[in-house]
Amino acid sequence: MAIPFVDLHQQYARLKPLIDARIQAVLDHGMYIMGPEVGELEAKLAELARIKHCIAVSSGTDALLIALMSEGVGRGDAVFLPAFTFTATAEAVLNAGATPVFVDVDSSSFNMDPDDLERRIAATRTVGRLRPRAVIPVDLFGRPADYGRINAIAEEADLFVLADAAQSFGGRLGERPVGSLAHVTATSFFPAKPLGCYGDGGAILTDDDELADIMRSIRLHGQGRQKYEVARVGVNGRLDTLQAAILLAKLTVFAEELERRDEVARRYSAQLPDAVTTPPLAAGRVSAWAHYTIQVTNREALLTDLKAAGIPTAIYYPHPMHLQAAYVARGDGPGSMPVSEALCARVLSLPMHPYLALEDIDDICDAVSSAVRRAA
Ligand SMILES: *Cc1c(COP(=O)(O)O)cnc(C)c1O
Repeated sequence: MAIPFVDLHQQYARLKPLIDARIQAVLDHGMYIMGPEVGELEAKLAELARIKHCIAVSSGTDALLIALMSEGVGRGDAVFLPAFTFTATAEAVLNAGATPVFVDVDSSSFNMDPDDLERRIAATRTVGRLRPRAVIPVDLFGRPADYGRINAIAEEADLFVLADAAQSFGGRLGERPVGSLAHVTATSFFPAKPLGCYGDGGAILTDDDELADIMRSIRLHGQGRQKYEVARVGVNGRLDTLQAAILLAKLTVFAEELERRDEVARRYSAQLPDAVTTPPLAAGRVSAWAHYTIQVTNREALLTDLKAAGIPTAIYYPHPMHLQAAYVARGDGPGSMPVSEALCARVLSLPMHPYLALEDIDDICDAVSSAVRRAA
């Protein structure tokens, strides 16, 4: 039987009675928009992240956009974000009317390099065209970024910190859960994320009472205190009640699934050959393991061999954002983000999900070992 890259069927088989009952309950009460499951989910997620406010929204991308809008980030503002990320991080900045300023990443953690952030803030000030306004660290592949240093740099430079935790909800930095590491955190419930629903979904987390009120209003077309009072320009950014219901069922096993993902990652790291660079398993930083991503020198040969062995892989991401057609006009050419550019040529993600069998992990490691030997 083929090994799936992400397996949502095994999870559904396990949770079927619970998920089906939750869906049936929504069909019975019929409150498809902002039904009781939405508030129930928000309370549970806020508790998990040990934070005051959770605002469930329509996607991770909308979570980023609504957070930027709530803080008034827009025209003339520079928003710093890593060049090695998914397009949504940069897209939200432009859709808010602001300008993305790319920052290079660290070659081992894949996350924003705080030293380069400092350099790009200084360079932006020197040019003087844009006002440094916000920073969006991305917890790539599930591993929390270096919030200790980034928050300190942001405080010094008076920047708003918005965490893109689309891949890391469930992770931790020391004792502090993702969701409590930045002023505002955006996450995603896209089906393949560590906590996924059966469609699009996301959430925003913060301790800031005032911003939370504004974000709730923006989510509902900018609604004021009364139903047809329009206090500001907003978006249609609600999470469907059905998706909230599905997430509530999945939350019952989420902690266990995260442990299992960590076990899968550790087994990979213990058995993969020395010729591949494995992701760090640093103590005190718990990844949600959205992806298990290795670095290799001869990627094309390895890809061909793994494909022949029936092992699915994926490349997150083949191109850095500063060289994408949509963003290239920002002015950063090839060579401006050397680490991100090198990573795009070296990274390879292996199958990762909580139901991956031990024998399958071993088979994948064996296949990588023989492919690496052949390529050497
Ligand atoms: C998935 C993802 C998003 C967007 O989430 P959606 O729910 O798909 O809109 C944003 N940033 C990163 C890093 C992601 O991986």
